[in-house]
Amino acid sequence: MYLIEFPNYTLEDFFDEMLTTRQGEAYNFLKGRLLAIKSTLVEKEEEYIKLASPKNQGGLFDIVENIKIEIPKTKTLGEIINLPSKISKRELIEFIKMKKIDPLFNNLEEMEVNEIKTFLNSINLNTVIKQLGDPNLIYYLSYVDAEAMKNAYEKYLVNTKGSSNIGRKVYGDIMSLSKDNLCPYCLQGIVKTVDHYLPKAYFIDYSITPINLLPCCSDCNKNKNDERTLQEDKMFINPYFDNIQNVRWLGCKVNEVWPITFSYYVREDIGDVILKERLKIHFDKLELGFLYANKAVTYFRGRVKEIVKEYNSSNYLPPIDSLKNSKESIENYNLNSWEAKIYEALLDSKWFLHTAIKELESKYDIPKEEKKFKRPLYEAYFG
Ligand SMILES: [Zn+2]
Repeated sequence: MYLIEFPNYTLEDFFDEMLTTRQGEAYNFLKGRLLAIKSTLVEKEEEYIKLASPKNQGGLFDIVENIKIEIPKTKTLGEIINLPSKISKRELIEFIKMKKIDPLFNNLEEMEVNEIKTFLNSINLNTVIKQLGDPNLIYYLSYVDAEAMKNAYEKYLVNTKGSSNIGRKVYGDIMSLSKDNLCPYCLQGIVKTVDHYLPKAYFIDYSITPINLLPCCSDCNKNKNDERTLQEDKMFINPYFDNIQNVRWLGCKVNEVWPITFSYYVREDIGDVILKERLKIHFDKLELGFLYANKAVTYFRGRVKEIVKEYNSSNYLPPIDSLKNSKESIENYNLNSWEAKIYEALLDSKWFLHTAIKELESKYDIPKEEKKFKRPLYEAYFG
């Protein structure tokens, strides 16, 4: 887990432009409804940043689940429907009948296209609701739901690979915020996708809001899934806001049996109790213990010969300095790296330093090196 920069785009930066890019007339109606809720989404974005900022009271756990966004009643039907500029009278009448809003008209068949458009642009949602009795239709016209927001995310941001559309630029920008392409949730997986910190199925106000979108590896994205417990001590670590780079939170111990394996855990000695609980949730739900323990086995195998060599060359004392050097070198890059923790665990294990180290050679089939005659330096160079 590491801190990343905020996205270079806010919702406002790309919203209008995103909706003007062609996605076929099929999305016109979706565009109209999205434009109608723009100011709501912008307000929600500001609230999100305010709540998440460490210097403010509260946190993202204060955000309320929302699966429908109300379209302001002052919006006109014309704005919500967002008709294409070119439409024939026949198509328009068909559309109006299909959307079941024809009862609003007295003599629809006799009206010209411009007259119909003018009428739609003059009647606001409030009036429409009073005149239409169909509750399903009223609901449909009054709200943007999770399905519509999911569509907006997928059609305008995700499924535009290779395009120069603004939606794809926003998506690409978020992917590029990671360091060395490493997933900021696990610091191990390669960034392949974008995760909604607050899941889009339950917090639809933030389905396309950049600050709620994070670069992520496929495994973390899958493990995090739609987890949405809103409690102060149960929130995942948020790489935009939670700066924990100087907190030693990861622990590791040697499982003192052959072949050597390691167990990872969240340390108990973290002063900030809420942070500790959040780290535990993050660590458990994203299965980081399993991930790191598996990585550690092969990493250690690759280091055994080096450790044996150090041990054999220093009068058979445990190579404490060299283990410390390896640990510190990796910690310099990342204080909580699972690789650094292997060395820390080895240094903490009396079993390893006093007993196991003598058997490494045989347990791991390291070929014994014959003591070579040490030639003077010039001979090493000139043969
Ligand atoms: Zn990950």
